[in-house]
Amino acid sequence: MSESKRLFFAIEPPAKIQRQIIRWRAEHFQPDAGRPVAAANLHLTLAFLGDVSADKQQALAKLAGRILQPGFTLNLDDAGQWLRSRVVWLGTRQPPRGLLQLANLLRAQAARSGCYQSPQPFHPHITLLRNTRHAVAIPPPGFHWTFSVTEFVLYESVFSNGRTRYTPLQRFALSEQPRISDEV
Ligand code: ATP
Ligand code: MG
Repeated sequence: MSESKRLFFAIEPPAKIQRQIIRWRAEHFQPDAGRPVAAANLHLTLAFLGDVSADKQQALAKLAGRILQPGFTLNLDDAGQWLRSRVVWLGTRQPPRGLLQLANLLRAQAARSGCYQSPQPFHPHITLLRNTRHAVAIPPPGFHWTFSVTEFVLYESVFSNGRTRYTPLQRFALSEQPRISDEV
């Protein structure tokens, strides 16, 4: 049997927005607040699959490829800290229905394929800082980044040399939606 891979489905913010977010992070958080997530690693997890065999990966990718759902607009306008998981995150005050539907669908497909799904409700978020040791001052509201989500990505998570890296394995297009302005 071939080796398993640690996989998850996620949304990748556009590179330009990843860069804007890390610039904002550098300006608004103390250097000792926590371990910053690298720009290219910023992502919003939709469904965590865990360790998956090649056969199961193929089956899950086939199901994901059959998803017919329109794209949606994501507005990142919220931030907070979870002390228990020791992260500072970026999120959205009003998760679009399309985001919740997509995550529900992927999580249901994962569960039916035997990938354990946590009973915790889905809290869409992008982790900005890890290993926060104390309460961190969260910047006041007023920031926001808006982008069109036109695809989702199957990632492999690889831990090596003390670092976790996410490698995109496959991209899945959502159907067309009216374009929004790229201006943020
Ligand atoms: P590391 O665990 O190496 O510190 P990480 O948590 O980013 O880094 P993974 O554990 O591989 O890497 O997780 C990949 C993604 O899936 C992350 O967004 C993580 O928050 C999410 N994730 C991990 N485990 C679960 C889980 N049990 N339920 C839901 N999401 C999860
Ligand atoms: Mg983890």
